[in-house]
Amino acid sequence: MIETDILIVGAGPVGLFTVFEAGLLKMRCHLVDALAEPGGQLTEIYPKKPIYDIPGYPTVLAGELVDKLMEQIEPFKPGFTLGERAEEIEQLENGQFILTTSRGTKIQAPVIAIAGGLGCFEPRKPPLENLDQFEDKGVDYIIRDPEKYRNKRVVVAGGGDSALDWTIFLADVAEEVMLIHRRSSFRGAPDSVEKVLELADAGRIALFTDSQAIGLRGNGKLTDVVIKHKEKGEFVQATDHFIPLFGLSPKLGPMANWGLNITKNAIEVDTFDYSTNIPGIYAIGDINTYPGKLKLILCGFHEATLMCQSAFNRVFPDKKISFKYTTVNGVNGF
Ligand SMILES: Cc1cc2nc3c(=O)[nH]c(=O)nc-3n(C[C@H](O)[C@H](O)[C@H](O)COP(=O)(O)OP(=O)(O)OC[C@H]3O[C@@H](n4cnc5c(N)ncnc54)[C@H](O)[C@@H]3O)c2cc1C
Repeated sequence: MIETDILIVGAGPVGLFTVFEAGLLKMRCHLVDALAEPGGQLTEIYPKKPIYDIPGYPTVLAGELVDKLMEQIEPFKPGFTLGERAEEIEQLENGQFILTTSRGTKIQAPVIAIAGGLGCFEPRKPPLENLDQFEDKGVDYIIRDPEKYRNKRVVVAGGGDSALDWTIFLADVAEEVMLIHRRSSFRGAPDSVEKVLELADAGRIALFTDSQAIGLRGNGKLTDVVIKHKEKGEFVQATDHFIPLFGLSPKLGPMANWGLNITKNAIEVDTFDYSTNIPGIYAIGDINTYPGKLKLILCGFHEATLMCQSAFNRVFPDKKISFKYTTVNGVNGF
């Protein structure tokens, strides 16, 4: 049995930063994540994309931010159980929780911080008959490393931020980029839409709205996508890759059965301290919901900070917090 002060479900940016804030208050943490690497969406979905709204970093690649967070929490020696999903919790009479993972690991703690983000990742897939035959053989739902597409022909599908941002990025990397979208207008940020239209006007990408993929062809490896335009009909596009970026369908997974109050796949919290309806269980980052919620890394960091102040009273019921700036106390690791 692993014992800790705060058991963190989810090693995304918010779970990682919790270790730092908890460490300043002398609380030890153990993180559980279903993925094999820490970093959550930043590692899994967009490690090579720049982020522009982290205070103090005019720009930072998502993967670099994860590396920096890992460096920042190193003094507090967090434990990691990676590649295992948090499955079940039980509460003992003394108020402590025991969590069991998908591989039977048991972790005991007085506090659970759920930083599970979007839950377990499930990309939305287009309804194409032979799609599974080409997964990892030309069809990708997530761009892990854009270098994979250098000097390749790529068809991106989708109308949201992910499809637009990657189309813009890949225009400088791939040999040919085509963006197809089944509607005539896009859901993504207006700036990105404008940039995509400019690239299309300049002939640097091919843009087809009112169009969708209706078939995939290849022999062991993808060679063509069959595309149908609403008015002009069908055409065959030769390509090395087809990347449908239709978002991730939020699946709370096992946490949906833990007795927490849930609205639209997110855990309801009190914004005083991000506590859930179960005393001792908190929810921070993308996984929670409250009036005015914004799914941003910055907001998750704030939530983690306030949560740790409240968790302290549970971990050390006989002690009082004395609030000190890091500039005064420094960072005293374990
Ligand atoms: C393309 C893209 C661009 C973005 N750009 C920005 C940006 O510029 N600025 C910004 O602030 N935000 C941006 N975001 C949003 C940002 O990534 C999220 O707000 C952030 O990742 C939330 O962090 P988190 O730690 O709450 O959750 P996540 O990063 O989602 O991490 C949650 C982790 O929990 C794990 N998990 C879930 N359920 C379980 C379980 N049962 N057992 C074990 N592990 C579990 C998951 O595997 C995952 O690793 C972007 C998102 C995307 C997709």
